[in-house]
Amino acid sequence: MASSPDLFPNVAFSDVSAAAAVPAAEGATAAFGLGATTGAPRLSLVKAGKAEAEPTVEIDLADAQVFKLGPREWLCVCDESEAKAGVEEKSFSRAVKVVLRTEAESKAFSLAFQRWKHQVISGKAGERLENGSIIASKSKFDTKIEASSAKMYFHYYGQLLHQQNMLQDFVRTGTYYAAVMENRSDFEGRVVVDVGAGSGILSLFAAQAGARHVYAVEASEMAEHAQRLISGNPSLGQRITVIKGKVEEVELPEKADILISEPMGTLLINERMLESYVIARDRFLAPDGKMFPTTGRIHMAPFSDEYLYVEMANKALFWQQHNFFGVDLTPLHGSAFQGYFSQPVVDAFDPRLLISQPTYHTLDFTSMKEEELYEIDIPLSFVASVGTRVHGLACWFDVLFNGSTVQRWLTTAPGSPTTHWYQLRCVLSQPLYVMAGQEITGRLHLVAHSSQSYTIYLTMSAKMWGVGAEQGGILQTSTGKLELKEPYYRLSQPQSYMVPQDQQQQQLPSLQPQGSEQQMQEGLSPGITIDQVDQDCGLN
Ligand code: SAH
Repeated sequence: MASSPDLFPNVAFSDVSAAAAVPAAEGATAAFGLGATTGAPRLSLVKAGKAEAEPTVEIDLADAQVFKLGPREWLCVCDESEAKAGVEEKSFSRAVKVVLRTEAESKAFSLAFQRWKHQVISGKAGERLENGSIIASKSKFDTKIEASSAKMYFHYYGQLLHQQNMLQDFVRTGTYYAAVMENRSDFEGRVVVDVGAGSGILSLFAAQAGARHVYAVEASEMAEHAQRLISGNPSLGQRITVIKGKVEEVELPEKADILISEPMGTLLINERMLESYVIARDRFLAPDGKMFPTTGRIHMAPFSDEYLYVEMANKALFWQQHNFFGVDLTPLHGSAFQGYFSQPVVDAFDPRLLISQPTYHTLDFTSMKEEELYEIDIPLSFVASVGTRVHGLACWFDVLFNGSTVQRWLTTAPGSPTTHWYQLRCVLSQPLYVMAGQEITGRLHLVAHSSQSYTIYLTMSAKMWGVGAEQGGILQTSTGKLELKEPYYRLSQPQSYMVPQDQQQQQLPSLQPQGSEQQMQEGLSPGITIDQVDQDCGLN
């Protein structure tokens, strides 16, 4: 398991929790290592002149925490228990103050503490990295997220092919690069934390922009690759420390001036990593520190797409067979039909399918509470620009890098250059009929769950028209319950879309696609084929 222990000679320490005041031991040695019998990570504090075999103080790191008291002073707090025969077990906290010789050693001590506590890694070039060990105390992440979901999630991100897929999304990576480089003054001489560093690319960008030091925090096995990539770029790498662990759990030796992260999933919120980003803000960011990205917006508009609706409804036709090897499948048709409509559709669609001006909901990463992401309730109100069938709600997102020099947006809007997030559409099993100018109201209710995703509750309503409209005011309402974690990736069939009904004459000027006018004039859809893009499994 772990390599040689980390030693800090000439420290002073004192047990501040002892009943009677204990004079500080000077000239002692602090050693991180694994317990000889337990194999568990521990910190031993050995008084000068004593053999390492008989430490004066032993701290089990599994449930220990460290607090910064001063530039060279740390307080290590751990649980102790005293069990005597026939006597009830007593447990109490023990606190040991450790004073290092220099600020540099003090920083190294805190990093070593984290490294050994989590069996994590150091920033030393070429050093072998350790797997995470089991931590006794549950973090905020562990209490919210099911262990099996987290295991699959970090396994996915531990693979280079998925990191490559994100790196190759040129819109994404290029926008981050531009946002960092155009705002050098926000990075020069600053301390940066890269929240969920993955391959370490954003840490390397921050170092290129002149960061004084970057802490690259990554929970998956990708931390090992990041360390290798960073070590292989030594002029930048010497200012980057990779820390393997969850941002909810690791400790850093200093506060950050700026956080950089790419925590966006499908519909912005999938994966629930925005919560980790906000927790990292509260744990690591200095007051008035900056966040890249700063805010995010979920955009929504009703759409009409007869092809898509028919395609989905047809999938359930299989279950309408009365004689499938002599078996009547129809009892399951209703469930199969609902099942298909519970999958949000992920693809790149033609923005001319939108039938109203979009609206948006803003998430301010710098001020929002983590709990505000558990349940997001968005009231909907649109005005239809055409008379058509409304098949559901189309959604996409953008994020803002609010730099001191340049404000840059990363958008995943339909009609804009396609990203690996594409767009997301919630299709209603019962479409609504609307006339031009008619109001469409509703609600998008997003409820987080412990599998790192959301259940989507969609309601859309429009006043009845046609027969009975004069009787007035009767609402047609359609609802859907969809699972954001189970999307339908519809990327294999590039469609040449027909513009819905009378929309040709009533194109909304602001819905004109940006950057792909030529494509639109030629009547081509920005649809993509499976050959062009690697299919992603709903993660970043
Ligand atoms: N920053 C990289 C990777 C982005 S993907 C890039 O832009 O290319 C998000 C990364 O965050 C994944 O590698 C994932 O393992 C990591 N991650 C997600 N939640 C985390 C958490 N709570 N703590 C630490 N890392 C996390």
